[in-house]
Amino acid sequence: MKLIIANWKMNKTPQESVDFIDEIKDVKNSNKTIICPPFVSISYVLEAIKDTKILLGAQNMHNELKGAFTGEISPTMLKSIGCKYVILGHSERRRHFNETDDFINLKIKSAQKNGLIPIVCLGETLEERNNNKTKDVIKKQINTCLKDVDKNIIIAYEPIWAIGTGKQASPEQVVEVHNLIKGLFDAPVVYGGSVNGSSAKGYLEKEVIDGVLVGGASLDPKSFSEIMKQP
Ligand code: PEP
Repeated sequence: MKLIIANWKMNKTPQESVDFIDEIKDVKNSNKTIICPPFVSISYVLEAIKDTKILLGAQNMHNELKGAFTGEISPTMLKSIGCKYVILGHSERRRHFNETDDFINLKIKSAQKNGLIPIVCLGETLEERNNNKTKDVIKKQINTCLKDVDKNIIIAYEPIWAIGTGKQASPEQVVEVHNLIKGLFDAPVVYGGSVNGSSAKGYLEKEVIDGVLVGGASLDPKSFSEIMKQP
């Protein structure tokens, strides 16, 4: 059983989300599928996945439970509408919204305290990889983001140079980093970075790769079904 996680980013209205679920809900597979829609579509997806084994996650949250944080969503709000998971520390949040490892650590602890399982994204830039800094970067992110958090977490290794670029890290490169991560923190580790229907198998057949986090290819029911069906 592998984890197949869809990150829809800022895509799909409620109606488009429901139409997507209708297309994939009967795909026979032995994996655990987690769909992470935009906030406004979450409750519609929840309704559409009832009677299926598909699970629901959000793409972000604030660490505080309520208050003067215009435009933000709290873990208790996500929990109350049926979310089980939440993606935290995605590189797009780090890049466009200046999220730091310390802030991500606060969010992870708050998610866990409030009954959500965080899916925490880590990964190096191309420059860092080319300068042989991948291990140092991953260690630093783990030391800060995962400080004092419990084991109930999913780690997503997402090299920034592979996200949305069509350039995938090879399964061998991913295995190397997953072994490093697992030596530092005991949790399932999935890979994300331009995974599609034809490349998914190469990752999922590796024992140390516990699943995939899929952006672009998760928007199309045909490609996503291909990934869900992998043994
Ligand atoms: C992501 O955004 O988490 C991701 C893996 O995107 P893509 O599959 O499009 O590279």
